[in-house]
Amino acid sequence: MTKGSLFIISGPSGTGKGTVCNELIKQDNIFLSVSATTRDRRVGEKEGVTYYYTSKEQFEDMIKKDMMLEYAVYGGNYYGTPKEAVEKMLKAGKNVILEIEAQGALKVKEKMPEAIMIFIVPPSIKELRERLKKRGREDDAEIEKRIETAKWEFAQCPKYNYVLVNDNLENCVENTLDIIKATNERQRIIEKLLSEM
Ligand code: 5GP
Repeated sequence: MTKGSLFIISGPSGTGKGTVCNELIKQDNIFLSVSATTRDRRVGEKEGVTYYYTSKEQFEDMIKKDMMLEYAVYGGNYYGTPKEAVEKMLKAGKNVILEIEAQGALKVKEKMPEAIMIFIVPPSIKELRERLKKRGREDDAEIEKRIETAKWEFAQCPKYNYVLVNDNLENCVENTLDIIKATNERQRIIEKLLSEM
């Protein structure tokens, strides 16, 4: 069986990367890793589905026990990818998506250079500000803070394999699926040739 591939999807808050990921996992062989976080649960979010919600102490204990593939502090909270589930899914030949911010993404790339990094950007900063306002989750000061964070995140773009503009959800999902298909084909070809040697 062909080994699964790992995809990292990042992008500033408000680019719609969560919506893109929710569309991707409608495909049979694409799975989203569930992260752990110390931030409070928002209305509509589910334990074990959106995130594993932990205390700061529990999170730090998981770090100590080397249970995290990566972790980062974002907006004053810990966010991290539990290692075991990702490893199991990859072994089982699945495509695994990590929807994580750029600091964590770069750490994963160091450990697993074969991971494919995709950065999703909004069509413009004006549009990003409008989307954040429409979402209504943050006040104006918080929105400006997110845009400030986005500046650092945009500067990380050259380290990603692909940059996709999310101006139309369907196109953005299609483009991501094309990247996943091409990566699976790369893996299949490599494994075939190696098995013949
Ligand atoms: P939110 O609080 O809006 O759900 O997420 C805030 C940021 O944390 C987003 O950019 C999201 O992609 C990122 N994030 C979610 N899970 C993880 C994770 O496991 N590791 C890292 N490094 N970032 C994460």
